Amino acid sequence: MLEALFRRVEDKRADVVELTRDLIRIPTVNPPGEAYTPCAELIGNRLARRGFHVRYLRGEDTPGDSARYPRTNVVARIEGKRPGPCVHFNSHIDVVEAGQGWTVDPFGGEVKDGKVYGRGACDMKGGLAASIVAVEALLEAFPDFPGAIEISGTVDEESGGFGGVAYLASLGLFSKPRVDHVIIPEPLNKDRICLGHRGVWWAEIETKGSIAHGSMPFLGDCAVRHMGAVLDRFESELYPKLAAKHTDMPVVPEGARSSTLNINSVHGGQPEGFDGLPSPCVPDSCRMIIDRRYLIEEDLAEVKEEVMSILDHLASTRPNFDYRIRDLMEVIPTMTDRDAPVVRAVADGIRDVLAKSPDYVISPGSYDQKHIARIGHLHDCIAYGPGILDMAHRPDEFVGIDDMVDSAKVMAQATMALLNGTR
Ligand SMILES: [Zn+2]
Repeated sequence: MLEALFRRVEDKRADVVELTRDLIRIPTVNPPGEAYTPCAELIGNRLARRGFHVRYLRGEDTPGDSARYPRTNVVARIEGKRPGPCVHFNSHIDVVEAGQGWTVDPFGGEVKDGKVYGRGACDMKGGLAASIVAVEALLEAFPDFPGAIEISGTVDEESGGFGGVAYLASLGLFSKPRVDHVIIPEPLNKDRICLGHRGVWWAEIETKGSIAHGSMPFLGDCAVRHMGAVLDRFESELYPKLAAKHTDMPVVPEGARSSTLNINSVHGGQPEGFDGLPSPCVPDSCRMIIDRRYLIEEDLAEVKEEVMSILDHLASTRPNFDYRIRDLMEVIPTMTDRDAPVVRAVADGIRDVLAKSPDYVISPGSYDQKHIARIGHLHDCIAYGPGILDMAHRPDEFVGIDDMVDSAKVMAQATMALLNGTR
């Protein structure tokens, strides 16, 4: 029975390559959210021909949504011959900008040495194509499957997923009883199951000063120097503290098993991007954006308190230190149980297709699973898909053709097991 399913997938090798190339050739660059509608329609039209009921759902009034750049999502569903659970494959259709350093056309979909090249090849149009082909093979091999299968192509994952999965989840599209199991084909490698991700806190800190002539800085108060004092405390206190925190979450790469803090930007004084000479002024404002990634063992309130206590201490000890802090984004860490049905089903598939045991990992950065867990309250969700995470967002991004075919086999087998309730 599995043999027949695997043979169907194998027969679709050329098809999965062509579909990946077609998807890459639609430059769904985010920001601004280019060409979402034609990409959603490519997926929708194809699945409609297979008998799926297809809906286009625009994330109206979500960040970036406009008449020129509509946040067009596609959700396709096919019902089985008898009642049963629903397996959902969710892929984001947006890609990041191409950037510099490419030796091939980033939107050409070139095929070379068993790989498909292009922006989004691994993150995650190759995974999307693999899931579509996996499901099509299953429909051909077992037309009287039970339950239901859904495939969605969603927008804006790279910018937080608010017009995409978060929007659909708020409509109930990622909740029981409609959906039971979710696989997100992000590029985590074909032999790894990603159970979840660390938490995120983004905030903007502003230090204040007072403006004066730059030739007499003692008449003013330099906001950049106040920020320097903050950074100094970060170096001496906060960074050592974060490095000492270790998680039991199997985060990859290993460096991300500690808490981390990235200084995303610091800016004070003369606006950036000017030409010529600045005017001589003492900066009265300095802003820093911090990107704190935290562990499942940590509490968000404590994470914030570590930074707040440094700022409050400076306010009580450093003359004229005045600050403001503003939350920009919060994501709760999430980790699906290793015994969850979708984890066991995909693990069986990896053992059968690749003849090895799966690795269980946690992503250092977050992805759309956060919305499915928090808004949809659905916890049987993982990321599993072809491609090497390190290639994501890089020049000459690629996905291996063998990897797409192998992972499509794993997805098809896992879907069968979940629909039949054997996992
Ligand atoms: Zn991605």
